Amino acid sequence: MAVIAPDPVHRYRPLLNYVGGGQASMSRLTRSMAAVIPSGCTWLPHRAVAVHADEREVELDTGERVGYGDLVVAPGLEPDLAATPGLAEAMEAGWSATAHLSSRAEDTWTAIKRMTRGRVVFTIPPEPAPCCGTALKPLFLTCDHWRREGVLEEIDVRLVTPYSSLLGLGFADRQVEPHLQRFGITVHHDATVGALDHQARTVTLSTPDGEQVLDGVDQAFVVPHYRPPDWLAPLASDDTGGLVDIDPGTLAHHSLPRVWSLGDVAHVRTRPSGGALRSQVEVLADNIRRGRTGESLRHYDGYTIIPITVDRRRLLLAEFDRTGTPQPTTSLIDLTVPRRLLWAFDRYVEPVVYFRALLKGRV
Ligand SMILES: Cc1cc2nc3c(=O)[nH]c(=O)nc-3n(C[C@H](O)[C@H](O)[C@H](O)COP(=O)(O)OP(=O)(O)OC[C@H]3O[C@@H](n4cnc5c(N)ncnc54)[C@H](O)[C@@H]3O)c2cc1C
Repeated sequence: MAVIAPDPVHRYRPLLNYVGGGQASMSRLTRSMAAVIPSGCTWLPHRAVAVHADEREVELDTGERVGYGDLVVAPGLEPDLAATPGLAEAMEAGWSATAHLSSRAEDTWTAIKRMTRGRVVFTIPPEPAPCCGTALKPLFLTCDHWRREGVLEEIDVRLVTPYSSLLGLGFADRQVEPHLQRFGITVHHDATVGALDHQARTVTLSTPDGEQVLDGVDQAFVVPHYRPPDWLAPLASDDTGGLVDIDPGTLAHHSLPRVWSLGDVAHVRTRPSGGALRSQVEVLADNIRRGRTGESLRHYDGYTIIPITVDRRRLLLAEFDRTGTPQPTTSLIDLTVPRRLLWAFDRYVEPVVYFRALLKGRV
């Protein structure tokens, strides 16, 4: 078993939102890649640049090729800063930041701490994006921080969402919306950020009715758009939008034998999240074995999750399937109700479970 992964470090990304909201440091979520590669696996610290399915080889950025019996494609989505004119410049100038990028998460909290008045914009990115609804976490952590500091009344907080309701998930929206009202947040529905100008201090929204310009913006916490990597285009098809063209149930490629995909880059027809990936891993690991022995393949049911903090001490879990129908993992307690215990679990317990057990295949 070989793992092709170019980065020298591995990050537990759900904690990035807590870095952006001032409840965690980058060191809490970062480990060296060597430390997280399971024993028995060979780590190839290179970038894959092409899949040669006919020869059953993956080409590396060194020009070398690595042969495979089964190939699992999971390089995630790439942030596409160029898709939003002005965003990269605004981030360089310190006028924009986002917890969704590991390089900008600390800047986010620095900017939040500095603010005592003015106008700010937060965004939920359009799909595909990694667990887009968790972009609400830094928003609520921040508003609660400003409330505690006594400056929230002086700050005009705007939220831009691509959905006609908050997240396009009725059962979760109903739980979160009262907290938007509690903090006085104005929501711009059916909107994405089309452009930013940090010198003019404007954020231009793209809406079905045309452009809307928000002016006098003091800080723009804008999550970039995401896109699947270009080198995977031969593994995609016309109707997958660049995502790897797999059977959303079995996770097997539709036309390339022994090629599988999962995670954010796979066309699993559900909203991407680490929780979704966790369910997919179990199915895929079993299906690779079944594929070799000729047994019938298992099916991933589309389960996904969005954890949302509603203030600095409470969190709810939206668990649902491909149709947006709730798919709770327990009937003992309603996890869509914000709870202190859930926040503590998400912030403190999950990272430990992730590094000590999940990455080692123990849960
Ligand atoms: C800020 C943030 C908060 C989140 N919060 C939550 C949460 O609370 N709960 C939840 O369930 N999910 C959350 N998610 C989503 C979750 O992190 C992702 O769904 C998950 O990381 C997807 O895993 P992946 O392996 O598909 O992609 P990634 O995590 O992007 O990993 C891809 C890996 O492939 C490597 N790679 C990239 N290109 C190449 C290449 N060419 N060759 C070889 N390797 C390559 C990368 O370096 C990386 O190591 C969050 C995501 C973000 C960004």
